[in-house]
Amino acid sequence: MRFLHRLTEHFRASVRYKLLSMVLSPLLIVLPLLAALVLIWGNESYDRLVRYKISSDLIIAHEYFDRVVAGVGSNVENLAASNRIATAMRARIPEALRKLLIAAEDANKLDFLNILDAQGNLIAASNEQTRPAGFARWRIVQGATGGQSATAIDVFSPEQLAAISEQLRERASTPILPTTNAAPSARKDESRGMVIHCAAPIYDQEQRLLGILHGGLMLNRNLEFVDKINGIVYRDGSLPLGSQGTTTLFLDDVRIATNVRLFAGERALGTRVSQQVHDAVLGNGETWLNRAFVVNDWYVSGYKPIEDSMGQRIGMLYVGFLEAPFSAAKTIALAVIVLLFIAISVIGAVLSMKWAKAIFQPLERMNQTIVAVQGGSIAARVGKVKSRDEIGRLATHFDLLLDTLQQRNAELRRWADELDRKVADRTLELRRANQNLRDTQGQLIISEKLAAIGQLTAGVAHEINNPVAVIQGNLDVAREVLGAAASPVLQEMRLIDEQVNRIRLIVTKLLQFARPVDYAGYVEPIEIRGVLSDCLVLVRHLLREGDIEVIRIDRAARKIAINRGELQQVLINLIVNAIHAMPSQNGGGKLTLETRDVEHGAAISVKDTGRGIRPDDLPRIFTPFFTTKKRGTGLGLSISRSLVERYGGTITVASGEQGGAEFTVWLVARVAQDGNEIGMSVSSNAAVDTAHRG
Ligand code: ADP
Repeated sequence: MRFLHRLTEHFRASVRYKLLSMVLSPLLIVLPLLAALVLIWGNESYDRLVRYKISSDLIIAHEYFDRVVAGVGSNVENLAASNRIATAMRARIPEALRKLLIAAEDANKLDFLNILDAQGNLIAASNEQTRPAGFARWRIVQGATGGQSATAIDVFSPEQLAAISEQLRERASTPILPTTNAAPSARKDESRGMVIHCAAPIYDQEQRLLGILHGGLMLNRNLEFVDKINGIVYRDGSLPLGSQGTTTLFLDDVRIATNVRLFAGERALGTRVSQQVHDAVLGNGETWLNRAFVVNDWYVSGYKPIEDSMGQRIGMLYVGFLEAPFSAAKTIALAVIVLLFIAISVIGAVLSMKWAKAIFQPLERMNQTIVAVQGGSIAARVGKVKSRDEIGRLATHFDLLLDTLQQRNAELRRWADELDRKVADRTLELRRANQNLRDTQGQLIISEKLAAIGQLTAGVAHEINNPVAVIQGNLDVAREVLGAAASPVLQEMRLIDEQVNRIRLIVTKLLQFARPVDYAGYVEPIEIRGVLSDCLVLVRHLLREGDIEVIRIDRAARKIAINRGELQQVLINLIVNAIHAMPSQNGGGKLTLETRDVEHGAAISVKDTGRGIRPDDLPRIFTPFFTTKKRGTGLGLSISRSLVERYGGTITVASGEQGGAEFTVWLVARVAQDGNEIGMSVSSNAAVDTAHRG
């Protein structure tokens, strides 16, 4: 069942199988039909042919039989009409008459020859044993007494035969043998005789009836007779395939003369015909032309009834030939036909399948390729196809199509990758631009803030400067006026001096922050190392207070063009911040000052081992007024950075988790037109301006 299901599925899914069954179905339906027709027709033709043959055989046999009967008749009639017999009868010499009869019986191969008187009584006989036995009973004898000669076949009883001669009776007696297929019968033997006999009148010269000549031939055991018929019907070589021809004479249904042999090669005398033939031929008077079981085998047979002078069926004439060789030949011929048809069908089917395979192979390969391509193997192809027909060309075009598709696909992917890359580039650019914008925005805000604060601070500073000058002036005047009297308040006066100085310093810083350009100093190429040493002198007392160890690494050789005082201010600011970050209670710290040449300039780093900067504060320490100290201004780093930035440099900061901060001042050396590297030059106007203000 499952197999059938799979077969139908296969059939549904395959064009090849559909077309194949379309082509094969006529072959597989028509050919067997044709074979069956040929078989039926062949069988019928064979049967018809065999029937024709046996029918003509029977006709020939019967004609010969009739000729024998007629021969007996004419012989007897000729003798009766001969002068010799009339003369002998007139002479009435019994001995001479008997001699004549014996000679005539011999010459005509008769079994008996008698002369009867006009009433049918025996006058003379060829056999001396012959006794009067009611010959007048025979119809033909009666006819002869009336002057009419006649010949007939009649059955003689054993007594009648014995009356003619004991020898004849003995010859007729045949024991009946049990025979397969015969009609049941209790008879033990057949002792009657089948006799061809003729009765002819004998006349004298005056045409007076002298007597009747009655002669006969008994057919029982007349083997010469049946062999002769058989020889005529089945001449040597007239039967093909080694078949044998047979001839039999039946008395009733018993074989009384035959060339059919029994198993031992003995003639089958005394055997009987099959019941079927008995009923048809003897019972219904039909002529049998069919196969029949004869003694021990099947024969193609012809039977014809034999009638006596009264029109009674008394026996049969049979001819036939062995069926086995013919039926074997027929079977072989039919088998050959069937085999031929099968072979044609098989060869046709195989050829069709091969052909179909050749036709559909490209199509099936295309299908496999489609499945493979759908499965992801984009490189799958139908490949080289032998066929040059439409399907073959389609397969080739299909490959070209796939090639084009793959090419387009690759191009598309390349474009997509390029697009991705471009989008990524643009996004990065955008992000950078965004960052720049944000930075610029921040800068702008700071600048605006600073500008506002600067204006405000400048105004305030100016306003403060005057009262401070007045305080300082008046204090100096008071000191001069008091002279020695001022000694008790000298301490207070010094404090006022200090604080006034502090106010002035703060105001100066504020003004420097508000208008840095105004405070720009003179620019010259300077040696960094020297500036750093000066700074250390200025903060020496702080370092000592803080118990701080200073480590110097001086590697910078380049001179940088910058205002010395400004650089000093920047560095002192960084060093003081570092000292503040390392409180003396914690056992001081280490201050590392390192200078080095870098590409296009020099770097100065100020590194401490202090508390470090919190990550949150890191982005804000350069913002003006940001401070974490109680008395800090939050302006140191922002002023320092803007100072350095004015010369094209910058200040960066790094602070680790474990504390400690490192500030690095990056200074740029510019290349002058004469090829020497110089720092950024600041306009001399600025220096003049500062001098003027000072
Ligand atoms: P001020 O020193 O008046 O606070 P600055 O602008 O110089 O102003 O410094 C701003 C802030 O940066 C400081 O308050 C401090 O918190 C931090 N800072 C600067 N230098 C260091 C350093 N070396 N170690 C730790 N913190 C520092």
